[in-house]
Parts: sequence; structure tokens; C-alpha cells
Amino acid sequence: MKLAKILPFTRVLMDMAVKEGDIAVDATVGNGHDTLYLAERVGEKGRVFGFDIQQEAIAATSARLQEHHLLERVTLFQASHDQLIEKIPDVYHGRITGAIFNLGYLPGGDKRIVTKPESTIRAIEQLLQIMKKEGIIVLVVYHGHPEGVIERDALLDYVREMDQKRVHVLKYAFINQKNNPPFIIAIEKR
Ligand code: SAM
Repeated sequence: MKLAKILPFTRVLMDMAVKEGDIAVDATVGNGHDTLYLAERVGEKGRVFGFDIQQEAIAATSARLQEHHLLERVTLFQASHDQLIEKIPDVYHGRITGAIFNLGYLPGGDKRIVTKPESTIRAIEQLLQIMKKEGIIVLVVYHGHPEGVIERDALLDYVREMDQKRVHVLKYAFINQKNNPPFIIAIEKR
């Protein structure tokens, strides 16, 4: 298949936005795959801020980064992403070029702990305040579980109403696949 699958396409979008020396955010670190990718992407002079409410996710991400000797360019918070404006020091505000959200539950973890639309939307609003112009927020929406359906609908309602003078919003989805495949919402700050 030539068309980029969902996860590779998140990287295409992040590669457009995040360059060496930049500041990036992983809003749902989980097992740390995206955090590691962002840490490599920003290089030695950049910085990544990662959030997750579960201690298990912070530990897994920390171990993954350590294994790759990249922990020192990442700050991890065991906190909800809707606290990012207070957690990320002011000196980094205005310098964030990319942020990623992988919604849903921690793979291999407690499936009852899932992202919630209210806090996801608050986090997006905070990011839009402190991101650089042309910064991109990527959300991977998993809607194969009941709460995922609620989150999907709330997010789509929210992004469809966003002022086009403020942001560009993209939806990238395979529309003939069975079993509710995940899709991407990308928001670029204007
Ligand atoms: N990208 C991750 C990876 O590479 O493994 C997977 C992320 S997983 C699909 C979603 C994560 O979001 C879970 O680890 C969960 O604990 C976390 N989460 C749920 N609500 C959150 C919130 N309000 N703030 C930050 N993280 C949250």
C-alpha cells in the first residue's frame, strides 16, 4: 500500500512541524513510543514534555528513554495533560512546534483508564495558547471501545467549530476499513 497508514502518517505530520532544537509535547506517553520518537527528532538542543496520569506509563516511558540514553532531553509529568500550561515552564511557551495525543487506553494496561474528551479539549486549548505559529497538534482517535465513540464525537464536534482564521483542521481516515480503525485529527495553529 502506498498510502501512509495511520501511525506512519502521524510521523509525516510531526516531521513537518518539529525540527532539531524544537520543543515538543507527548500528551499521552503510554509506553513511550512517541516520546522516544520526539526525543530523537528534537535532538540534543531540543526538549520534550511528556504527560500521563498513570505511574505505570511514566515508568515504562522513562525506562524506554533510558535504554536509548535520551532521558535527559525529556521531562515527564505524572499529571493530566490539561495541566500542561502550568507544568511546562514559561520559558518554553511560544516555542512548542508539535504535540501528539494517542487517545484511549494504555496498551497492555488497565482498559478502564481512558482519555476523556473534556480534558483532551482543555489540553488542546492550552496548547494553542502556548504553541508557536504553524505548530501542529496530532490526535490519533481510537473509537473501537464505547468511551472512544463518545470521545470521537465530542472531538469532531469541537474541531469542526474551530475558527478557520485561528487553525487549520485536517481529518485523515481510511473510510472503507472494517472494525473502526483509528483516524487522525491534525490541528495547525495559524
Ligand atoms: N502513545 C502511547 C505509546 O506509545 O504507547 C500510547 C498512549 S495510550 C493509547 C493513552 C494513554 O493516555 C494512557 O497511558 C493513559 O494513561 C493516558 N491518559 C489518559 N488520560 C490522560 C490525561 N488526562 N492526561 C494524560 N494522559 C492520559
